[in-house]
Amino acid sequence: MVISDRKPMAEILGFLKDAKKVILVGCNQCAAASKTGGEPEIQEMKALLEAEGKEVLGCLLPDTACNLLLGKKEFKSLKNELKDADAILSLACGDGTQTIVKNTKKQNIPVYPANNTLFIGEVERVGQFEEACKACGECELGWTGGICPVTMCAKGLINGACGGAKNGKCEVDPDNDCAWVKIYERLKDLNQLDNLLEVRAPKDYSKQLNPRRHNANRKAEAEVEA
Ligand code: SF4
Ligand code: SF4
Repeated sequence: MVISDRKPMAEILGFLKDAKKVILVGCNQCAAASKTGGEPEIQEMKALLEAEGKEVLGCLLPDTACNLLLGKKEFKSLKNELKDADAILSLACGDGTQTIVKNTKKQNIPVYPANNTLFIGEVERVGQFEEACKACGECELGWTGGICPVTMCAKGLINGACGGAKNGKCEVDPDNDCAWVKIYERLKDLNQLDNLLEVRAPKDYSKQLNPRRHNANRKAEAEVEA
């Protein structure tokens, strides 16, 4: 899940300083779970903008704002409003916001982000999230007992602990457990401590060159042909 956090209202109003008529677009998946772009947050933003003298022409809550194809269809319901709007305020993540830009390019309306996109993470409990994956493009979880060294170790170390941990806590931030102590304990429980005897090759950072693309259809075809 992509975790996001709402920007300060002053920053949002700064984006909208020249806009009188605004359309709000949320996202009913990650942004809704992050409490930044679901129905309650759209209604709250609508009230805040109206209190600032803005006119909210329409609100859209796509199931997934980052789905370009679905978004195309969903924006048809705002055909008339898009003709009059001065700006679109996205309550989705950065990905969803860019998808909204693509889907409204024809109308040439500026799209502004209401949220800061923080990380890929998991819901620990309602409203509480923890980063879990940095999308490194080369998953290490198969030999680390399912604990990500890239994300959970402050230094992103691949070949074991840095030696600075104290009482199982990370030397960089003692509020955090040392990822490598956790990996060691997990592998011990799984009887897989031998995994730590192998020296791992440095991470291939070419897999993280921006912007990344992936074609799942082409990969599936190649696998069928092989
Ligand atoms: S190793 Fe960590 S950062 Fe890389 S893909 Fe796996 S979980 Fe994500
Ligand atoms: S103490 Fe552990 S988690 Fe912190 S940087 Fe060192 S190895 Fe990584």
